[in-house]
Amino acid sequence: MRHNLGIARSKAPQAKIWAIVKANAYGHGLTAAMRAFDSAEGMGLIEIDGALRLRELGWTRPILLLEGFFDASDLPLLAQYGIESAVHNVEQIAMLESAHLTAPINVHLKMNTGMNRLGFTPQAFAAAHARLRAIPWVGKIAFMTHFANADDAFHENLPLAEQLRRFQEGSKGLVGEVNIANSAATLLNNGLNGAWIRPGIMLYGATPGGSSAAEFNLLPAMTLESRIIAVQQITLGEAVGYGSRFVADASTTVGVVACGYADGYPRHAPDGTPILVDGVRTRVLGRVSMDMLMVDLTPVKGAGLGSRVTLWGNGLPIDEVANAAGTLGYELMCAVSPRVPMIEA
Ligand SMILES: *Cc1c(COP(=O)(O)O)cnc(C)c1O
Repeated sequence: MRHNLGIARSKAPQAKIWAIVKANAYGHGLTAAMRAFDSAEGMGLIEIDGALRLRELGWTRPILLLEGFFDASDLPLLAQYGIESAVHNVEQIAMLESAHLTAPINVHLKMNTGMNRLGFTPQAFAAAHARLRAIPWVGKIAFMTHFANADDAFHENLPLAEQLRRFQEGSKGLVGEVNIANSAATLLNNGLNGAWIRPGIMLYGATPGGSSAAEFNLLPAMTLESRIIAVQQITLGEAVGYGSRFVADASTTVGVVACGYADGYPRHAPDGTPILVDGVRTRVLGRVSMDMLMVDLTPVKGAGLGSRVTLWGNGLPIDEVANAAGTLGYELMCAVSPRVPMIEA
C-alpha cells in the first residue's frame, strides 16, 4: 500500500494526496491504511464514524467526507474534529446556514459535470459558492467533481475532456483548491493538475478496470488465502456441487476449498475462474457455495489435503478473478466478510 501510494505520487508529483479509505480502506482496515499512508496529506472517506476513528487512532491531518454530512446533527462533530465535508446539494447548504458552529468547517463544493450522481450543475455552481461564502463558520472552500469515464478518453457519450470543460466553465473566476482525479484519472492523465488527487483502488494494487495493475507497477495489498479441506476423485460424466453445473469430461481430482460466498468470494464465478493451489494456476469447478468452492487439482502435482490456495492477491491479480466473475476488484475487496481472519504482514 505504501509502494502504491508512491506510484500515485509519481503520477502527480505536484499534487497533494487524499488517500481514499472508504469502506474500511476497501476492505484492508483503517489501521493498516493509516500506517501505510502516513505520508499522504489527507484521507478521504464516506463514513463519519470512520473519520472519527481516524482521529481516535491519531490521524491529525485533513480528513474529507466524500458525500459530506448527512444530517444537521453531524455538523458540530465535524467542527470539533476538524473534518472537511463535500457539499453537493442545497439541503446541505441550508443546514450549514442554520447551524451555529464555534469552529470553521472546510468544505468542498461539488459540481455535477455529467456523472449525474452528486453535485450542483455548472450553472448553479457560482450561486452555491456565494451562499457558502456568506456563512461565517464555513472556512476554506475547495472545488471537486467526479469523472464517469476517466479510463476512456474517447467515450462517445461523455469524454473526460467534456467533463473537464464543464468544470472549468462552471468554476471560472472562483478561487480555491481543486480535486478531481480518481485512480483512473491519476494513472492515465497524470493527475490532471489539480491541487489534490483522490486515488482509491490503485492504492490497494488493483486497477479501475480494463488495464492490469502490473502495467502500472502496482502491487497487490490483499491476498485472500485458504486451504484444501477435502479431495474427491471423480470420473467422466460425474458432476460437482449445487446444480451439478460442472460435469467432468475426463477423470478429475477435485479439491474442496474452505472459502465461499459468505467469505466474500463471488458466487457468480464461472467454471474456469483462475485460482492458485500451491502456487500453481488451476480453475474453479462448479457453483461456489456459501462456505466452500471446488477446484481442479488434476494439473497440480502433489496437491492434496492442506494445500495452500490463493483466491487472489500475490501471484493472481484480483482484477483477473474479478474479470472472470463479471465484476471489479473494488467489489471483491470490499466484500471480504468479517469472518475472514485478517493477518497484517
Ligand atoms: C471512491 C472515490 C474515489 C476513489 O476512486 P477510485 O476509483 O477508487 O480511485 C475518488 N473520489 C470519490 C468522490 C470517490 O467516491
